[in-house]
Amino acid sequence: MESIWSKTWSRKKGPALNGEIQADVAVIGGGMAGILTAWYLKQSGVQVVVLEADRIGGGQTKNTTAKITAQHGLFCSRLIETKGEEVARNYVQANQTAVEAYKRMIREEDIDCDFRESDAYVYSQDEDKIRKEVEAAKILGIHASIENHLEIPVSYAGAVRFPGQAEFHPLKFIGALALQLTIYEDTMVTEIQDHLVKTTCGSVKADKIVIATHFPFINFPGMYFTRMHQERSYVLALSGAGKLNGMYIGNEQGMFSFRQYDQYILLGGRAHRTGENRTGGQYEALKKSAKKMFPESKVSAYWSNQDCVTIDHLPFIGRYAAKHPNWFVATGFQKWGMSLSMVSARLLNDLICGIKNEYAEIFSPSRFSIKEIPGIMKEGGKAVKGLTKRFFQVPDETIASIEPGHGAVADTPQGKVGVYKTETGQIYQVDPICPHLGCELSWNPEENSWDCPCHGSRFDYKGNLLNGPAQRGIR
Ligand SMILES: Cc1cc2nc3c(=O)[nH]c(=O)nc-3n(C[C@H](O)[C@H](O)[C@H](O)COP(=O)(O)OP(=O)(O)OC[C@H]3O[C@@H](n4cnc5c(N)ncnc54)[C@H](O)[C@@H]3O)c2cc1C
Repeated sequence: MESIWSKTWSRKKGPALNGEIQADVAVIGGGMAGILTAWYLKQSGVQVVVLEADRIGGGQTKNTTAKITAQHGLFCSRLIETKGEEVARNYVQANQTAVEAYKRMIREEDIDCDFRESDAYVYSQDEDKIRKEVEAAKILGIHASIENHLEIPVSYAGAVRFPGQAEFHPLKFIGALALQLTIYEDTMVTEIQDHLVKTTCGSVKADKIVIATHFPFINFPGMYFTRMHQERSYVLALSGAGKLNGMYIGNEQGMFSFRQYDQYILLGGRAHRTGENRTGGQYEALKKSAKKMFPESKVSAYWSNQDCVTIDHLPFIGRYAAKHPNWFVATGFQKWGMSLSMVSARLLNDLICGIKNEYAEIFSPSRFSIKEIPGIMKEGGKAVKGLTKRFFQVPDETIASIEPGHGAVADTPQGKVGVYKTETGQIYQVDPICPHLGCELSWNPEENSWDCPCHGSRFDYKGNLLNGPAQRGIR
């Protein structure tokens, strides 16, 4: 399960931090958001270091489909309805400016990253929705149009087209930016105390600190875990499937995402909340759909990814919490982290350098109003459900009844144990409690992992950490 990006590009890891250093800004996390933020700060003359727990791009960024677009589903009409015209206009303009910033940066820095301009489409079975979205996009100043003839083999009533969007190879791109930056890899941040960033192999004293770890790992203050959950979806790289000019995403549940990369069509779909894949079968279902749509195709790579979804569907970019005015955050990208990483980088650069930024308010993490409280309660409620399961839910299966190649939470006299039985009958036992906030993990048969239904942390069957916000493995 390796993405087409990891399969087609690699880079030697940089050094780990060693000892104590000082910097104007420490950026924690070397994904798209962290690397772009560090790059902009460097351009502004700021002395910046990036601290990355593993390797840059090795988090969600290596598993994206890497469409660079301001078209985030049928969001124009939705945002006008939920947040009003001004917020919606700012959102779309921030993202469209980000698309243009990519184009300019790649051209001026001469970055070789398989970049190409491409139109973006959202297709739907509902003609009214399409018409409404095009009208809304026009109100917001976007040059959108209705399309009734698409090159993809799906049924649809129509699509909304945004011209002049783009796509690229995300790892080649951040690899090129990294050449200009001071980056410490294999350097996991364990604690932040005011201006001091402590890591597994040294520390950084920094005036300002940016937390770009995908899901923030500092729980208090901020409490981002009450306002976000993670959603997972699956991607196939298909060879022999033909060529596409545009990039596509379906609006309704069960629809697909498409784009071209090299000789492959990247087909995405089967989204669900992380931790809710108890029966598995997502790859099989996606492969079945691929066979129907592209009978001649072969699966050359397959992988999955997850992203943070906020309760008001806008990201959190700005000051981390009132208590720490020198800490900043970029998270909650709702599967649109390419353009939103660029928005984050430009906005955080401005905030840190004391430059006024017109988008600061709409992305501010402290924007929540009383209206959003029911959403917070719902999100918190899911988390609490996960927490209480630890004490009250008795799983059906016991260790003895687990089939080879399967996992389950079993009751033992000592307490609950997460058990995985390999195909050859070897047993791996873990403590099935997430070290982030104590939710009970659920077995993901698709990827042989223990996933947290509360906030999306993931662990392999041996207990090693795969994805945060947890910062360590399980016993
Ligand atoms: C299936 C799928 C397809 C997608 N396709 C698209 C698309 O086409 N276009 C688009 O715009 N978006 C897309 N996205 C979303 C996009 O991939 C993400 O939003 C984006 O990659 C997130 O980047 P990031 O920098 O925030 O996180 P990451 O890439 O995860 O980077 C965070 C980094 O922080 C590091 N880290 C974590 N904790 C610590 C610590 N304590 N100390 C040091 N380092 C730490 C991690 O190792 C990691 O490298 C997609 C998402 C999914 C699920």
